[in-house]
Amino acid sequence: MKISPRVISFHYTLKNNEGEVLDSSSGSDPLSYLEGSGQIIPGLEEQIALLSVGDKRTVNVEAARAYGSHDAELVMDVPRSRLPKSEGLEVGDQFAGRGPDGEAGNIFTVVKLSDESVTLDGNHPLAGVDLTFEVEITEMREATADELAHGHAHGPGGHHDHGDGHLH
Ligand code: ZN
Repeated sequence: MKISPRVISFHYTLKNNEGEVLDSSSGSDPLSYLEGSGQIIPGLEEQIALLSVGDKRTVNVEAARAYGSHDAELVMDVPRSRLPKSEGLEVGDQFAGRGPDGEAGNIFTVVKLSDESVTLDGNHPLAGVDLTFEVEITEMREATADELAHGHAHGPGGHHDHGDGHLH
């Protein structure tokens, strides 16, 4: 028998090791995802798959199964003269750039500033961070044919919604 992927909806509060709240679905719709589509981090998907509707759990996910470990090679000092605009940058600023191999789409975060250079970190902001999710499962249902074709979850009940309901 073929097991068809489900669409699972859940509320979550995401905390780091220090117990600091990083993100939460509280006050908005629960997050829905299609199993096996990579919409949520693998370590969380694995553990949610074992739960049932109504379950409330604290789920710990190691960095390696979340946003990956922190890659020191993605941290680089760039001379200010090589940046198109280095005036007014502040630690914590983020912008899209290219990785060391020219790949597009890396988000760089300014982590240090000196008179001569800017230190950029191309890791995901949560790379190397162990995460704790408090989750509450609100719905588990079979994916619709549309969702399977699109490779992602639609809104509650499978209604088409390409708004902000997708977590990447
Ligand atoms: Zn779609």
